Amino acid sequence: MSLHIPFDNTYARLPGAFHAAQAPQPVAAPRLIAFNADLARILGLPEDAGKDPELAEIFAGNRLPEGAQPLAQLYSGHQFGQYNPQLGDGRAVLLGEVVGTDGLRRDIQLKGSGRTPFSRGGDGRAWLGPVLREYVVSEAMAALGIPTTRALAAVETGEPVYRERALPGAVLTRVASSHLRVGTFQVFAARGQTAELKRLTHYAIDRQYPQAEGPMGLLAAVRDAQARLVAQWMAVGFIHGVMNTDNCAISGETIDYGPCAFMDVYHPETVFSSIDRMGRYAYSNQPEIAVWNLAQLATALIQQIEDKQAAVEEATEIVHAMPELMQQHWLRRFRAKIGLTTEEDDDLALISDLLTRMAQNQADFTNTFRALLTGRARDQFTDPAAFDAWEVEWQARLAREPDPREVMAAANPAVIPRNHRIEQMIAAAVEGDHAPFHRLNAVLARPFEDDTEAADLRRPPAPDEVVPATFCGT
Ligand code: AMP
Ligand code: MG
Repeated sequence: MSLHIPFDNTYARLPGAFHAAQAPQPVAAPRLIAFNADLARILGLPEDAGKDPELAEIFAGNRLPEGAQPLAQLYSGHQFGQYNPQLGDGRAVLLGEVVGTDGLRRDIQLKGSGRTPFSRGGDGRAWLGPVLREYVVSEAMAALGIPTTRALAAVETGEPVYRERALPGAVLTRVASSHLRVGTFQVFAARGQTAELKRLTHYAIDRQYPQAEGPMGLLAAVRDAQARLVAQWMAVGFIHGVMNTDNCAISGETIDYGPCAFMDVYHPETVFSSIDRMGRYAYSNQPEIAVWNLAQLATALIQQIEDKQAAVEEATEIVHAMPELMQQHWLRRFRAKIGLTTEEDDDLALISDLLTRMAQNQADFTNTFRALLTGRARDQFTDPAAFDAWEVEWQARLAREPDPREVMAAANPAVIPRNHRIEQMIAAAVEGDHAPFHRLNAVLARPFEDDTEAADLRRPPAPDEVVPATFCGT
């Protein structure tokens, strides 16, 4: 039997300025590591698709499914604050789009599928480590209820990829509500291609925000989605690591998992990425960077508007409203983390006080909040008395809440993809053992359950397990 993907491609129909036709480059010996049957079902792929031996061929790029129109998308972007006039899919091709059983349109993209016209110096490939990292973390994010691209398949290529050493090559099949990035708008704005910018704006509105009116309506919609997203990251201790404008999806989905990580010990200045030497994308900087990125989108969108002065004024107002919006989302989520659904003026001070005490006492972010349910949170603090003092205030506040336990249980995950477990999983996979990868996926699919079988995955790293930096590892 043969896998039928019901493609319905709109991006391929946009003019040539938007993309370059590019087939994936075949690989030597594809072997399927994972196929996400739950996601396949949502996409409307056949129920038994997972059993089909041709999946490895298709998701390695060796065989093009009928109806695919593979292409690499053009974009640019600010990388660590510096504008790079041309990026684009350098190691990815969009196979096409499908409208799922839920009525939503999604891109199906192969990542690590070989060189494209936008590869610049790169080999167009990915190695197994980042492919499995993205698979695990993006699926964990989805299970946490955080907007994200998803992983449909992971395939080993049977070919080496040369980084500092030879490593096994792999291809990830990524699914996204679109791959439109802030940088997709920037490239046409920077080049003065106003017709293309207008076309893109219409396309983006039609595809993602049909209720939005005009470029400024789109800007406001992206702001709302990004504000919500970043607040959600903050609430689970997630650090994206490379919030460049080319890695910022206008859908408000988390995209481009590189040197990302969840914090273990809480500290606002935590940075994992080995390439982020200045800490630009540190945990606590993420809200500010999201505003900066939105300002870049505003600058790009304005280029298509005749009355520049009015547009600048309107865009400024939209962008300036973002911090307050993000703060509202943040406060709602952190209120829930300590069991609050009602609002009182002193809540922010109560939450901030807990976070300060956590930072001073090397408290594990995830486990401290989860332990508020079990009464064991004080054990997370180097000086438990620091928690006790806070707890008195907290209990007084909780007395005015209807159902704090239920609220906390739904807001505080029991398990997150801890960085050291991901590194251990990758090390095993490089040796051919995929069991840790499959186990992580299975446990992380139910992050709010106290699975006693998974106690080891909930534990913070032992001193010798701590991962000091996550390498971009492309
Ligand atoms: P990233 O940091 O993964 O978001 O990538 C930034 C840019 O570099 C994008 O245009 C990528 O397509 C490109 N890129 C990253 N790795 C490679 C590679 N191995 N070969 C070609 N292009 C790459
Ligand atoms: Mg990227």
